[in-house]
Amino acid sequence: MSELRIGLGYDAHAFAEGRMLVLGGVTIPHPRGLFGHSDADVLVHAIMDAILGAMREGDIGHHFPDADMRYAGISSIELLRQVAGIVTRNGYRLVDVDAVLVLEQPRIAPHREAMRERIADALGVEPRRVGVKATTTEGLGFEGRGEGVAAQAVVLLERIGSPDAP
Ligand code: MG
Repeated sequence: MSELRIGLGYDAHAFAEGRMLVLGGVTIPHPRGLFGHSDADVLVHAIMDAILGAMREGDIGHHFPDADMRYAGISSIELLRQVAGIVTRNGYRLVDVDAVLVLEQPRIAPHREAMRERIADALGVEPRRVGVKATTTEGLGFEGRGEGVAAQAVVLLERIGSPDAP
């Protein structure tokens, strides 16, 4: 039987003035963006943490430290590409990823397919292996008050080989 691994990721970022809103690698027209060291793509951050978790490889803070100026303003999709490289080097294949954005505004449906394609491209898989959806919280919590955006992701990895020799 093949060895399967699951991973769970969660992230949240606050809205801030004067920032671009980037979700799932897609820049969305909106009066405010998310605050963070990188482009603050909360969806991609949750997916990266889920993948790293499935490999027991720590988290994105470990791999891409906030204190490291190389990652200031960096595209999170670029970091996801690097995480996909770790998946391959560790002898895994990404079977499936599903994610949910939790936010009041903006509407995600018009951008969903573009997000799936951007994420799948960075991961080197077909878009059918990437699920993206969104929900509101009926006004509850920081997401419901429009103060920020949260995201959760689950991934399934399959071991297909042994890790590359260093
Ligand atoms: Mg983050």
